Amino acid sequence: MLRENIYGKTIGELERICHSFSLPAYTSFQIADWLYKKNVCSFDSMSNISKTARKLLSESFILQRHMPVEVKISEDYTKKYLFQVDEKKFVESVFIPEKTRNTLCVSTQVGCGMGCNFCMTGKQGFNGNLSAGEILNQISSITERDQLTNIVYMGMGEPLVNTDNVIKSIEIICSPYGFGWSPSRITISSVGILPGLKRIIEDTNCHIAISMHSPFSDERLELMPIEKKYPIRKIVDYLKTIKLKHHRKISFEYIMFKDKNDTMRHVNGIAGLLNGLKCRINLIRFHQVPGVKLLPSTEENIMCFKDRLTEKGFIATVRASRGRDIFAACGMLSTKYCSAN
Ligand code: SF4
Repeated sequence: MLRENIYGKTIGELERICHSFSLPAYTSFQIADWLYKKNVCSFDSMSNISKTARKLLSESFILQRHMPVEVKISEDYTKKYLFQVDEKKFVESVFIPEKTRNTLCVSTQVGCGMGCNFCMTGKQGFNGNLSAGEILNQISSITERDQLTNIVYMGMGEPLVNTDNVIKSIEIICSPYGFGWSPSRITISSVGILPGLKRIIEDTNCHIAISMHSPFSDERLELMPIEKKYPIRKIVDYLKTIKLKHHRKISFEYIMFKDKNDTMRHVNGIAGLLNGLKCRINLIRFHQVPGVKLLPSTEENIMCFKDRLTEKGFIATVRASRGRDIFAACGMLSTKYCSAN
């Protein structure tokens, strides 16, 4: 029988496991402590749990963690980690050190089925969801784990089609029995999958970032097929109905493509769409990817776009370009590995 990985189980799941073995309920907290605080890699290391209990656990479960199989370090100290999650299946995480914060961008799927036409991961197609343990493993297996200040679910894959595992991983990151983080240090980035978005809003207090890339439905559809099922207008309309609590922030990601979405017409379109919604707009420089004809907007155009949005009363920022020399754009390193293995 295939034994499940115990790493990534929530306290509720650990309680049920302990109950099924007739172990005392407090054992679940001891196991969680070893898994998420002491970061052990074997049941044998759980020294305050009886030998009998450890034997029972190891007969039904494995405790598996994956160390990165490759690390690339940029000249600006951005680090890209590559994890192997299965035969021929790889995912990436990117560590971004800044003056006042250290962010880790984590993946939630192997490949991605959303098919955004500017994205290397989209070209891999969907190859499976990551479990909560595989998401957490990206955080706990890197050398900078204790220096991290922020986590963004913005790596490979669409988090809100793997909502169960994403929510479980957030529970473990934000619980006293887990990593003990505040949800205000976590951002979920999505193309806008309405049912998943509603669950994240209801079940967590994390920040939300929606990929817009065009305020116009026909033009967004050219970039992002998801526009057909969940139009950006519907996503924005829903966000306008929610009450922002616990300091939750809403932002929109906007990759700047030359002569595609970087005109004054687009500034006016964004202003009309987001009118009345408290939010921030993050303008992102496009890192060109092989086989994609889109070009990056000029620096001058990006700054002008930002200024026009600011004049219209929006908070607009331009995201610093990091790790260009190590292909920090999502999916580039894992695509190289998938095709080589
Ligand atoms: S941009 Fe994100 S959602 Fe779109 S294909 Fe790439 S990984 Fe998937």
